[in-house]
Amino acid sequence: MTTPADRLRAVRERIAAAARAAGRDPASVALVAVSKTRTAGDVRELAALGQAAFGENRAQELTAKAADLADLPLEWHFVGQLQRNKAAVVARTGAVVHSVDRLPLARALARAGEEAGRPVEVFVQVDLGGAPGEIAERGGAAPDDVPALADAVAGLPGLRLRGLMAVAPRDEEPGPAFARLAALADRVRADHPGAAELSAGMSGDLEEAIAAGATLVRVGTALFGPRPIPSPAVTPVTGVPPGTPEEVV
Ligand SMILES: *Cc1c(COP(=O)(O)O)cnc(C)c1O
Repeated sequence: MTTPADRLRAVRERIAAAARAAGRDPASVALVAVSKTRTAGDVRELAALGQAAFGENRAQELTAKAADLADLPLEWHFVGQLQRNKAAVVARTGAVVHSVDRLPLARALARAGEEAGRPVEVFVQVDLGGAPGEIAERGGAAPDDVPALADAVAGLPGLRLRGLMAVAPRDEEPGPAFARLAALADRVRADHPGAAELSAGMSGDLEEAIAAGATLVRVGTALFGPRPIPSPAVTPVTGVPPGTPEEVV
């Protein structure tokens, strides 16, 4: 049985080793603990060990946990697909949004940032390819559209562009995919020197991401253990109305 302290130490060691192997300062890579599906108690346990940045991928789960844990000085990150009508609630938590992949969403977040009097910090999410269903589930702007989207985001007063974010496709080696991301990030950085960050790398591929220049890794499983199987969003239709006793066979 490993403890949260063991797992946090192991992840920090992986990050430091990958940074040194790439000739980089380990302190140049930030760790966001992705706490989706975990309890507020799990977050508290890791926070007590010195981990301050946490990531969520559902607006409701983020707002509930941020409220539960408001007594702690945590830094929240939103890493999931975001609907425009949830932009304001996410912005209100102060979370950094990693998943800006279309202009209407950027505009909605910018409005929230202006209303709050504090720009929303964002990453533009890049789609690095994969099966169509996987892309639909994960989100991200097509690489060709990213420079223009980054320009638009950088021009919105309610936003601050921190850089690019991506998830490696499941059906490809992460190294070449992250190299494409890094090339795109260089292009964006040439026009927007302040957008110097790169959000890439998860439990299974943080080494490849750091080799490609990731400055922020988003790690869930390696810190918290395997995630529980998600319960279906909609109860399957069985043809048996709720409360009707099953026929005994
Ligand atoms: C869940 C998730 C992670 C963390 O994934 P692990 O494989 O559990 O480390 C990172 N980024 C995003 C966008 C996620 O949804």
